[in-house]
Amino acid sequence: MQLIIADEAGFCTGVRRAFHISEEMANSEGKWFTLGPLVHNKAVVDYFSQNGIEPLEDINNLAGDGIIIRSHGVSPQAMAVIQEKGLMIRDATCPLVKKVHEAARLLQSEGYDIIVFGDIHHPEVQGIMGWCNHKAQVITSIDEVQSQKKFKKLGIISQTTRNENEFLAVVEALLPRAQEIRVFNTICSATRKRQEAARLLSAEVDCMLVIGDRNSSNTKTLAQECQNTGVATHVIESAQDLNPEWFKAGDKVGVSAGASTPDWIIKEVLDRMTQFDDGAPQEQIIQETQMETNAPRENDTSEENFAKMEAEMADIVSPSRGDIIKGIVVEVHDDDVMVDVGGKSEGIIPLREMSVKDVSSAKLLATVGEEIEVLVLKWDDDGTILLSKKKVDSKRAMDKLEETFNEGGIVEGTITSSVKGGLLVDVGVIAFLPASHVEDGYVKNLDEYIGKTYSFKIIEFNRNKKRGSQIVLSRKQLVEAEKSKLKEQFWATIEEGQVLKGRIKRLVDYGAFIDLGGFEGLLHVSEIDHVRVEHPSAVFNEGDEIEVYILALDREKQRVSLSRKKLLKSPWEIVMEKYAEGDIVEGKVVRIAPFGAFVEIEPGVDGLVHISQLANYRVEKPQDVVAVSQIIRVKILSIDQEEKRIGLSLKEAAESLQEEEVQEYLQNQEGQESQDDPEGSAADE
Ligand code: SF4
Repeated sequence: MQLIIADEAGFCTGVRRAFHISEEMANSEGKWFTLGPLVHNKAVVDYFSQNGIEPLEDINNLAGDGIIIRSHGVSPQAMAVIQEKGLMIRDATCPLVKKVHEAARLLQSEGYDIIVFGDIHHPEVQGIMGWCNHKAQVITSIDEVQSQKKFKKLGIISQTTRNENEFLAVVEALLPRAQEIRVFNTICSATRKRQEAARLLSAEVDCMLVIGDRNSSNTKTLAQECQNTGVATHVIESAQDLNPEWFKAGDKVGVSAGASTPDWIIKEVLDRMTQFDDGAPQEQIIQETQMETNAPRENDTSEENFAKMEAEMADIVSPSRGDIIKGIVVEVHDDDVMVDVGGKSEGIIPLREMSVKDVSSAKLLATVGEEIEVLVLKWDDDGTILLSKKKVDSKRAMDKLEETFNEGGIVEGTITSSVKGGLLVDVGVIAFLPASHVEDGYVKNLDEYIGKTYSFKIIEFNRNKKRGSQIVLSRKQLVEAEKSKLKEQFWATIEEGQVLKGRIKRLVDYGAFIDLGGFEGLLHVSEIDHVRVEHPSAVFNEGDEIEVYILALDREKQRVSLSRKKLLKSPWEIVMEKYAEGDIVEGKVVRIAPFGAFVEIEPGVDGLVHISQLANYRVEKPQDVVAVSQIIRVKILSIDQEEKRIGLSLKEAAESLQEEEVQEYLQNQEGQESQDDPEGSAADE
């Protein structure tokens, strides 16, 4: 008997990869399961069961620490369920199957009706259906094409392990049924190569053995290919299934194996075959058939291409909940931001997850093309990944703040709002500033600080605190330190006689305390003005900025006396500038004496109207003519700058006013006459 083994038989690269991943997980920590049998081969499944990895059939009853996604792949909905449970994932989906997922998603997003050529019950097809939101129909044979409606836009894809000729026939049959057709030939070249190798071999042999699980799609397709050539074909799952009666002495027996058939079963079968002694020498020939292929390169299952695809996949490994990943902003709306996270799924960041700050639009926070870091919150049923930038920013900020806290450093932050007992501060995350730590003294109105940016010291940092703020700040210590520095500078530079600007800090009955930028000085009420000031509040408000003169310094007791009066013109200076003898001015009677009345003509400057100057008749008592507080017009008779005396006359002012009135009357009369008698006036001239 001559045994000829097809050169393409047994594990394909995708299954081998899934096999190795499962072996790796069998030797790792934790309890791992596969979602469904790893491959359609009982021997392989049993092998892994013995090594602690068992298949889980129901997605809703997930268990263990981790799940291996088999080479058939899963729907995004199933992936979301696994992600939600927080299980570890090793994704052994064959890269070629992932390409079918991509095609399904693309067709659905571009509005195509979709036909999947395959078996609706096959897990690969069920996964594919999920990637187009189950908006596809599955057909298993060309017979079903006749019942199809007419399509406007039709997309066609195939289960990877289907017969390529049948697929092409289906495509051809569908062509007249659509205005536009888009076809993705997603049949795996491993499948095709096995089929071609088996078909070619079938033509040369008396009998074909196809080794593989009877439930395996590609084993069934392989067997069908062989049978189609008319050769006697036997499907066996293991050496135990071999029947010596199938073979005659001198037969050429071809051997092929499905893509999920492990090498050890093939070897076992070949070993068993050598025991069928027909007297002739046994011979095993490995076929060297070179098969041409027109398949697109992306379906090439050569080791080289597979390694390339695996490298690409390493970059697009589906992120798990809690992962921090990088992405590129592809769309920005008011309410959310779309992010390309490098996989097949798009990520979405709702506005509330963009920032710790309250902003009205995501457009204020992101721009298209920008690379950002995001945290995976969860997977939605449609494969969209819900992301948070806020949480990454918070985590990064917390890391930095923790470092600053440990080093005793300073942070900068903006006060956002007031709460009971203090203020909230944005330092990358929201921290608490107790009211007693806002300044180095009591603060009356905390709201005045909102919107302002300051430096703070972190006095408490507890990442794990469940209640209250994890970060507590203080500004008090920094204010104290700054003040002490300024105080030192102040005393080093201050001199009596200097004029400085200062801000009124506090008003008290006896004066005003002025903040001179590092130190406070006292402006006594008597130094506010040349005129008497009843209370400082009559002149100032707290917070006003004024210029002050350094009147005296007591370096020992650290006291500074200030004067404002020194910087103001004295009333006498004003009088000398403003008035001259003979001027008639208005004034207020401020005091009455037996010899006359004192009249204030400028704040702080009184003149005397002697009793003899009160009226042009003899006055018994000044009160007979004027009263205190009365406003009168007086004439300045004399100004004695030396003695600071001003002589005034009410009488002369009255006479002058009378004179003015008479003159005015006469002028008015003349004017009236000229109007009444214009001719007479002309004749007089
Ligand atoms: S798509 Fe091809 S290479 Fe991938 S698992 Fe299936 S048969 Fe193997």
